[in-house]
Amino acid sequence: MTPVVQFHYRVDPLLFFPDLDLAGLDPGAWYLRPPYCEDGFLVVDIGAFVVRTPERTLLVDAGVGNGKARPNACFDRRADEWLVAPGEIDTVVFTHLHVDHVGFATRFDGSAWVPAFPDARHLTTAAELEYWTGTDPDGFRERLGDYVGDSVLPLRAAGLLDVVAPDHRICPEVRLLPAPGHTPGNVCVEVVSEGRRAVFAGDMVHHPLQLARPSLSTDFCVHGACATHSREALLRDVADTDTLLFPAHFPDAVPGRVVTDPAGGYRYEPVTR
Ligand SMILES: [Zn+2]
Repeated sequence: MTPVVQFHYRVDPLLFFPDLDLAGLDPGAWYLRPPYCEDGFLVVDIGAFVVRTPERTLLVDAGVGNGKARPNACFDRRADEWLVAPGEIDTVVFTHLHVDHVGFATRFDGSAWVPAFPDARHLTTAAELEYWTGTDPDGFRERLGDYVGDSVLPLRAAGLLDVVAPDHRICPEVRLLPAPGHTPGNVCVEVVSEGRRAVFAGDMVHHPLQLARPSLSTDFCVHGACATHSREALLRDVADTDTLLFPAHFPDAVPGRVVTDPAGGYRYEPVTR
């Protein structure tokens, strides 16, 4: 497994969690200190993971991408180094179809956005594809830009997008875990190998603040209460076990173990080699 961090991103806590009582938080709490917070901003790194199994090389999510017009100035027309070679990947798994998870799936060929991994299958779920290619009932596409048009539809047009069940098994070591709420067809990716287990959690936990307070969903969650339910179930499942959690946006994409905090919620024990 190799993390591929595209860029280091800092977000106003109230942009992510508009109802958060900032004054009610202990400023010395572990999740409000570096590396998780800097100068009052939440650190939300953007990137992806490459997962290698004996038969597959998977890319889990695909960052914001480069050169794409976006309303969010931090995502707009990026020009970042990206170290994933097109021929290396045979399977691209989207935990969900948000703007910061699909970007590198396409590249501009001089006249159009085309698949960046033309030899790879790209996996999403029916609920996810239907929601993001539908009528935009909640106005998210308006808010996030037409990233579906430049990053998802070209995959479908090229016949490279597979709609799979939310518990689909990709290969003996890798399967999807349903985790709806953040988006309607959101999934996690579970890898079990040689008796060890990892869960690529996507945006189930955007920021460690949500480990301390699992009921906290973001302003980008389509169904906040459902996202909370899925997050609480995931954290109960992995807490106090050997399972390694790989959240999509933690600083430098460092995985960790989740442990019950006697003071409430959970803590994160990062694992670095
Ligand atoms: Zn995200």
